[in-house]
Amino acid sequence: MKTTAIILAAGKGKRMGMDISKQYLILEGYPVLYYAVKAFEDSNVNNIILVVGQGEKEYCKETIVEPYGFKKVRTVIEGGKERYNSVYEGLRIIESFPIYTDIVLIHDGARPFVTKEIINKSIEEGKKYGACVTAVKAKDTVKLSDGNGFIKMTPDRSTVWQIQTPQTFSYNIIRKAYDRAIKEGEGNITDDAMVLEKYGRWNIKLLEGSYNNIKITTREDLIFGRAILAKEKKFEKNEKSC
Ligand code: C5P
Repeated sequence: MKTTAIILAAGKGKRMGMDISKQYLILEGYPVLYYAVKAFEDSNVNNIILVVGQGEKEYCKETIVEPYGFKKVRTVIEGGKERYNSVYEGLRIIESFPIYTDIVLIHDGARPFVTKEIINKSIEEGKKYGACVTAVKAKDTVKLSDGNGFIKMTPDRSTVWQIQTPQTFSYNIIRKAYDRAIKEGEGNITDDAMVLEKYGRWNIKLLEGSYNNIKITTREDLIFGRAILAKEKKFEKNEKSC
């Protein structure tokens, strides 16, 4: 079974408030995007597609793909206006691959702390269930609002999960669901599982990921990111000295 990862890096990062796109900011010596691509390169994934912003293809090749010698990156393409448009570009380009993709993993390039263990587990579960998303159990109580700043209801916390990426699917299943969503002009799509929930009628497995797998969205996240990397380095050092 062949697997392809679509790594999304076409966001503008407006919430970061900087000129440079957040995926190219340097975090402890490497661009943010480097970390996710490295994890996929080291995993059991066969192919990687990088989806970048308009006019950023060459820059991405020169700053990420070539200097770090990533061999699994088959192509770098431009994304679309919203995240789901970028995903769709990735899903469509897979058609042109000489070898058929059975399983597709969709990952936010802004989540640098994904590990090859999470990726490999996602592939296993994706093969078994046809659809699985990485998530963590909510630590806080979650409220649904009425849209006017008041509480509408409180879901039972033991059933609440915070969704991350990778989100992993049988290629045919997610492609058909996306084709329908795009055709029907569905907007407000913030993750891939919700496309399948609406257009695919498929049981989607929750795969317990890691609280470290944060998305770098605002400047404070860079501080958390440094702390996560420092913790990992300390852990590696301790492992070696044991
Ligand atoms: O905007 P948000 O933080 O939800 O983006 C999640 C991921 O999707 C990021 O890695 C971002 O680069 C990517 N994205 C994209 N195309 C867009 C918007 C976001 O590839 N149009």
